[in-house]
Amino acid sequence: MSLDFTAYALSEEHEALRESVRRLADDKIAPHAARVDELSEFPQEAHDALVKADLHAVHIPEDYGGAGADALATAIVIEEVARACASSSLIPAVNKLGTVPLLLAGSPELKERYLPPVARGEAMFSCALSEPEAGSDAAAIRTRAVRDGNTFVLNGTKRWITNAGVSRYYTVIAVTDPRAGPGGISAFVVEKDDPGFSFGALEHKLGIKGSPTRELYFDNCVIPAARPHQVHDRRPGARHRPGSARLCRRLCAGTQAVRQGDRRVPGRPVHAGRHGDEA
Ligand SMILES: Cc1cc2nc3c(=O)[nH]c(=O)nc-3n(C[C@H](O)[C@H](O)[C@H](O)COP(=O)(O)OP(=O)(O)OC[C@H]3O[C@@H](n4cnc5c(N)ncnc54)[C@H](O)[C@@H]3O)c2cc1C
Repeated sequence: MSLDFTAYALSEEHEALRESVRRLADDKIAPHAARVDELSEFPQEAHDALVKADLHAVHIPEDYGGAGADALATAIVIEEVARACASSSLIPAVNKLGTVPLLLAGSPELKERYLPPVARGEAMFSCALSEPEAGSDAAAIRTRAVRDGNTFVLNGTKRWITNAGVSRYYTVIAVTDPRAGPGGISAFVVEKDDPGFSFGALEHKLGIKGSPTRELYFDNCVIPAARPHQVHDRRPGARHRPGSARLCRRLCAGTQAVRQGDRRVPGRPVHAGRHGDEA
């Protein structure tokens, strides 16, 4: 039996996209890749080239000024940029990671405020889920969001946050109701200059060093009440899709976790005693 057939092929449109991103990456991104890695320097030339070519956040829907690319096209862009410079590929990748919770569960006001600047290349978006004690076990996060009138006050630490300090916007996953377990977790958009929000030092990594990774600190960080801020608003009458916060959390964890297949048990520590629950 001959195996000489194509089981799966990209569409002509996707192939053309791959060709054009490859050309751009070879011309404008690859020449800077070694330097940004060696100096742990944000790949500004790559960022500017991606913005100019409208490839920095291709997943944003056309309604919000984006290219409206499907998941496959978005993956092709990330893959071709990564072929030239892994650090630079985290520009389109993390812009998507940070905005997907809004796309899935954000109110129209939230989307109107935050998606167009990302589509225009004026702002980047990071996603802040992981914490010192919560990586794969995302439900163990401790960052608290406490309601204060029409807004929330955030306290806690996020760790390993990609493009931290460079991004203007952050989707921050925080506990609103500790008694509700994973169901008491929600997501908020925090802006870089919000009071009580600050950044840790640059992590020294072994690779992908042009993409800054830092801790985020929330010290009585008050999100201005006039701004739309909660991705998943649980108040009666608020426009949301039930369960969407959990979806966001899973999405973030699923995208970034170091996977171990069946061996990973959400909510259970890697080894007994990690949380002091066994002698
Ligand atoms: C460069 C970099 C960038 C990152 N960027 C972001 C970001 O932008 N936003 C963000 O929120 N996070 C980010 N992270 C964090 C990343 O999502 C976490 O590192 C990841 O979720 C794993 O968590 P952890 O490092 O705490 O490892 P752990 O969860 O402690 O896992 C360590 C090892 O144990 C295994 N393991 C875990 N639980 C179990 C179990 N129950 N049973 C068996 N094995 C298990 C894991 O598979 C892994 O091999 C980034 C991390 C890195 C290194």
